[in-house]
Amino acid sequence: MAAMTDGERRDRMVIEQIERRGVCDPRVLRALREVPRELFVKRRDESRAFDDGALPIDCDQTISQPYIVALMSAALELSGDERVLEIGAGSGYQTAVLSRLAGEVIAIERHDRLTRSAAERLNQLGCANVTIGTGDGMRGDPERAPFDRILIAAATAECPEPLWDQLAEGGILVGPFGPASGQILKTLHKRDGKRHERSITGCRFVPLIAGLPDPPLPS
Ligand code: SAH
Repeated sequence: MAAMTDGERRDRMVIEQIERRGVCDPRVLRALREVPRELFVKRRDESRAFDDGALPIDCDQTISQPYIVALMSAALELSGDERVLEIGAGSGYQTAVLSRLAGEVIAIERHDRLTRSAAERLNQLGCANVTIGTGDGMRGDPERAPFDRILIAAATAECPEPLWDQLAEGGILVGPFGPASGQILKTLHKRDGKRHERSITGCRFVPLIAGLPDPPLPS
């Protein structure tokens, strides 16, 4: 029998890991089928690109589990014209998924090395509606605010206030809230300026860290 193509492997990943666990937004499922996850993992992990879990990327960070990417994307209830702020772009995989679901994506990553490689991949994939930059995402992007949707892809005890302030009225924010040992993925809806919270599932993300990493010492 011929070996499966990457496209067939992605189809299987979506059916077994995502649809079967109850994510049914057809646009989200299509985006997960189409974005080549294999381009976002380290070359040595290419054969594990469709595994049901997170994988290591540079700077001691991780590319998120496909199911979690699908769950967070679905939680944002995107119809196609929203402006989305993403904090912690990492490999850029979630960014590429969001770029297919929203009107515009502004992504912030604190490790410049990750920003650069994510930007390269997103460019290669023709994600023209994405702006990605290096910075401290805990401050958000006041100049481009407000945002219809905000996705926080790193663990934080509380929602950083600037991010809540930059969420538009009627907007939705999703992120993992809780201690480093384990968090609850939650959505925060802003209605009449008030916060309406909903828990989705338990999860474990790398921490959201204030400020930028120290530059490497000259050798
Ligand atoms: N969803 C991404 C993985 C995110 S991992 C993917 O699928 O590839 C979380 C990322 O958040 C890491 O890359 C980490 O460097 C970044 N991060 C942590 N604190 C941050 C901050 N304050 N501002 C921006 N990015 C941050």
